[in-house]
Amino acid sequence: NTILVVSELKGNIRVFCRVRPFLSDDGVGADTKVISFPTATETMGRGIDVTQNGQKLSFTFDKAFVPDTSQQEVFVEISQLVQSALDGYKVSLLCAMFFEIMNMHNQVCIFAYGQTGSGKTYTMMGKPESPDQRGLIPRTLEQVFETRQILQAQGWKYEMQVSMLEIYNETIRDLLAPNKSISDASRPENGKQYTIKHDANGNTHVSDLTIMDVRSSKEVSYLLDRAAQSRSVGKTQMNEQSSRSHFVFTLRIMGFNESTDQQVQGVLNLIDLAGSERLSKSGATGDRLKETQAINKSLSSLSDVIFALAKKEEHVPYRNSKLTYLLQPCLGGDSKTLMFVNVSPDPSSVGESICSLRFAARVN
Ligand code: ADP
Ligand code: MG
Repeated sequence: NTILVVSELKGNIRVFCRVRPFLSDDGVGADTKVISFPTATETMGRGIDVTQNGQKLSFTFDKAFVPDTSQQEVFVEISQLVQSALDGYKVSLLCAMFFEIMNMHNQVCIFAYGQTGSGKTYTMMGKPESPDQRGLIPRTLEQVFETRQILQAQGWKYEMQVSMLEIYNETIRDLLAPNKSISDASRPENGKQYTIKHDANGNTHVSDLTIMDVRSSKEVSYLLDRAAQSRSVGKTQMNEQSSRSHFVFTLRIMGFNESTDQQVQGVLNLIDLAGSERLSKSGATGDRLKETQAINKSLSSLSDVIFALAKKEEHVPYRNSKLTYLLQPCLGGDSKTLMFVNVSPDPSSVGESICSLRFAARVN
């Protein structure tokens, strides 16, 4: 009665599955256990089983976090990845002069994928005001600034830049746009195009996007608050919208060591994806239909790109969506990608949970 879902391929992307705990407002019958974790040694800590209509599906990922895994425990598993963005590729200046431009990067992308209510925002942002419940973004920043202090003592000079954007209906919105509410800033009559361009060095530029220099994690916290406010304009309507848009947090790190002539560059992208739930196209009309189509398009493009990369296909369809085009340098090449697939334990969500796990098994 068990179906084994084996990942189709193994690329340079890693997939971590995280099941959130039951919440008081989960559906009735929440005591029926549809999700379990195998104790067999070979899948221990990596496997997850989902039971639907008496049939068990078994998935294996790089890691599977049980519901009571703490934010800190999750962070420990990704901190190596954060460190690699900070270390960058160490390119000696001599070497750089030799090749004229040798502006190598270390790019890291961390995604949270899953249906609305499965714990994506909790994983990425958490509750910044609670030390225990802070998510990956605040913890990452703390690590980056701590490491910077150590490295500064060794002669490194670092500059850090932050940008935050939202992709809604295939349109980019600048969450740090000054003065204006976000809806104003993204209106075409304001002349903001937010065109995505990649230069020869693998740098991504989004025209008109606000980029802020930051010197402390306090400064970034302030910006995160500002971005959150930009997202929640018009309260109910926009709150709803935040689950219908992709949130992209980008930290760019540039370092230079005067005593050793080393330079490093790292880019860290942390992405809270739009809810992956299947919205019936038949029922949706107007804006809702447009939203649904945009989300479906970008999430399937993401899957197609990762799949093509893993299969080392010649053509990688980056241009099929804003999200994949924006993240192109970060998805391809030597960059590192980690995807969290967030899952709810609620029996009424079992269908969606299986869809999410299948999606993640495909990209794994
Ligand atoms: P999503 O962003 O996927 O829509 P949220 O992150 O908003 O989902 O999570 C939905 C609810 O579940 C929130 O109230 C959140 O605080 C809670 N939650 C999610 N994951 C956890 C977790 N691991 N531990 C405790 N509460 C969680
Ligand atoms: Mg969310």
